[in-house]
Amino acid sequence: MQNETNDSSARVYHPLESVEDVEEFYQAIRREKLTHKLAPERPYCYWTIETYDKSNGIRGGGGLGVLAADMRRVAEQLQVPFVLVTPFYPWESHQKMENLKQIDFHTEKSYEDFGFNFVDTINIQTSTGAVALDVVEKRLGSTRFLCITEPNFGELYAGESGSDHRLYQEVSLGFGGYKALKLVGCRPGIIQLNEVATFFAAVARLDELVSSGMDFYEAVVYTRKHTLYTNHTLVQAAEATFNYGQFERYVFPNIKSVAVRRWLSDKFTNGMIRLSTPTVEIAELRSGVSKLHARVANYHDINGNKVKFKAVTNGIHLRTWVLPEIMDYYHQHEILDKFDLPSTRQFEEKVNKISANDIRHLKRIGRAKLNEVLQGRTDQYGNSIQIPEDAMLFDFKRRFVDYKRPWLPFTEPERLARILREQDAHYILAGRVHMGDAVMFEKLMGLLKLIDENAVLRERVHYLPDYDEELGWALSLGANASINTPIVGLEACGTSWMKDIANLGLLISTHDGGVADCPADSYLSIDGKSESAEAKQLYEQMEVAGRAWRNDFDLEYWIHRELLAYLDVVSGTRMMRDYLNFLF
Ligand SMILES: *Cc1c(COP(=O)(O)O)cnc(C)c1O
Repeated sequence: MQNETNDSSARVYHPLESVEDVEEFYQAIRREKLTHKLAPERPYCYWTIETYDKSNGIRGGGGLGVLAADMRRVAEQLQVPFVLVTPFYPWESHQKMENLKQIDFHTEKSYEDFGFNFVDTINIQTSTGAVALDVVEKRLGSTRFLCITEPNFGELYAGESGSDHRLYQEVSLGFGGYKALKLVGCRPGIIQLNEVATFFAAVARLDELVSSGMDFYEAVVYTRKHTLYTNHTLVQAAEATFNYGQFERYVFPNIKSVAVRRWLSDKFTNGMIRLSTPTVEIAELRSGVSKLHARVANYHDINGNKVKFKAVTNGIHLRTWVLPEIMDYYHQHEILDKFDLPSTRQFEEKVNKISANDIRHLKRIGRAKLNEVLQGRTDQYGNSIQIPEDAMLFDFKRRFVDYKRPWLPFTEPERLARILREQDAHYILAGRVHMGDAVMFEKLMGLLKLIDENAVLRERVHYLPDYDEELGWALSLGANASINTPIVGLEACGTSWMKDIANLGLLISTHDGGVADCPADSYLSIDGKSESAEAKQLYEQMEVAGRAWRNDFDLEYWIHRELLAYLDVVSGTRMMRDYLNFLF
């Protein structure tokens, strides 16, 4: 029933000189010996509670899931042996608008509809008995999805954080996923834990080593050496806690070794545990998702020592997110090499040759794609919209969470209206409020009411609910300037802005997350000291962006600056190279 045909990754894959051999990529990144360490039966194992890959039937919630899906796509493109261990959620949440209110609804989905094969059933244990999980898999090139699922698994982030159901999901993913890996004959070459919800995968490995006879301390050392913990959360205190009783019900019954159980029990303080505490102990390798994030992430181990994170800035799978015509352009002009890394020869010269004419031509193709996608969508009034070919388009496309500040451009509604009218511009807001976030639900309603009360905004500002990859992709292709305004210090990396830059859009942003990997004069930056100063600057930068799109010199100036600074940062191949270099 959920057989989606809006398959963005399938749509944008296009023939390019293919990578003949993984060895060639390893040589290019000077890691010739990697073929001994990573092999089909000893793959790179990536554990994640969230994956954002609609064409394979798994819908995520945000950047964490986009990262996981893109890691697998990059691995497939580069022929790296890779297993993505993740749940297949039998339910998925969607949103629509009624009377300017977001209404949530759910759809059921089945893995058979997305080409997954049933492998076998495995059990995980609880204090009241075993739960059977289906193991299903789907192979794509050198990679595979390895999923665990059962009819009552629920949807992504079902229940409160810290609830029994979440713990059950995390235990199933960790212990169940590890059993699934054995079932398909794999032994992890490396385990990457995409956030602490995947912690139990490392426990499963430790327990296997100890219960098969390895000395406990040796097993800890071995597991530590082969486990990478990737952190996305800045503040440890914000993390969910679980209590000892919950562990007795869901976790301990899955651990055979008494020593491992004791080790884990020791990580409780006052009967409570945060999973990051044992995770930093079991993972010697730890990474943050941007330079700034790795520097400021404030984590302490159980002895109170500050945890160090290595920066591996997120990248995106360019062939998924970038207009095929733009990818062809990058390759033909040798701006990107065949691995999708920025050319090492005369990169600057080549980028500086991109002409305003080329940019406008490519963006017109992108606008047409956006309008195609918009035919299948409706705005806050239930109307289908189209953006005129020559109109300026701003977008703000994000999960509606407080720190991203979707309301910032509406601080002075009259000023926004004037800018939009004077530039003949439209503004698309796409987002979704996380279920149960009452504050943002109200804020969104307030915003839509404000828009409704202003004739110019009502005509030119469009809110599109049910934000998903297809919409994120289409907006990156079709918008001229995108707005990214997290409160500085709160965005770990962000990937939406990467899609915009790679698609030749102008970025208006605060200096945060991965954006702060490069100097603030690389894009249209907002660096005000107060929220009202930031709002003023945002309007000024919207005016700069509008002028740039009417003036060839300015357009070339800003697009060149962005690409010179960020093309390397946003390249998913660069990210894979950095992970491989860190791991081996
Ligand atoms: C890219 C994307 C995201 C991730 O956005 P961040 O900027 O990393 O928070 C989330 N949702 C959708 C639908 C996307 O396309």
